[in-house]
Amino acid sequence: MRVLVVEDEFGIAKPLRNALEREGYMVSVSDTGQGAIKLTKTWKPDVILLDLMLPDIDGREVAKQIRAFSGVPIIMVTARAEESDRIVGLEIGADDYVTKPYSLGELMARIRAVTRRAKGTTETTTGALTFKDLMLEPDTYRVFRAEEQLSLSQKEFEILRMLMEHPGAVVSRADLVHGVWNLPLYEGSKTLDVHMSWLRRKLGDEASSPEYIETVRGVGFRLAT
Ligand code: CA
Repeated sequence: MRVLVVEDEFGIAKPLRNALEREGYMVSVSDTGQGAIKLTKTWKPDVILLDLMLPDIDGREVAKQIRAFSGVPIIMVTARAEESDRIVGLEIGADDYVTKPYSLGELMARIRAVTRRAKGTTETTTGALTFKDLMLEPDTYRVFRAEEQLSLSQKEFEILRMLMEHPGAVVSRADLVHGVWNLPLYEGSKTLDVHMSWLRRKLGDEASSPEYIETVRGVGFRLAT
């Protein structure tokens, strides 16, 4: 399991690398955003820990650029705890978020969680799923509409995958919240609606006259026929 640590502060990167290596991870450290993008292409990490405040490019821009070619799980790390940062981070494709100072235990748990989810996804399905002009590749985490690649976050990807795995069927809200977030419906209901609206926006879909995802009121969602 390869972890790419994107962090410009040596005093943070060094102990982090040691801790990750003790856990058995292979670790690369980049102290710039440019370096991180390059290493993601060449070294192909399984998960990226991305500091938001970097000397060259803003971490959110780095995530966006990585999302344009890879679905690798990204955990954003920042000193800023503002809700707007959190939402922007998740919207541009980060899969999770930790705020400094974090404990190593907390960070390890999050790494295990995102990599387990990513692994689970590739294990359940292989081969591309298609619907209308959409094509979803579980193995590479990529989604195309016609020829255009969409940049979805891991959550948006998993929502779409669950729907595309059950063409014609209604996937319940509870199943989506459990399958994507591993939460009971009462805890994840609002989160589902937020991510669903982001997913629809990226698909260019409208809830009132859906081309791709139809709401079944009070029950769940299904692919629009
Ligand atoms: Ca920094």
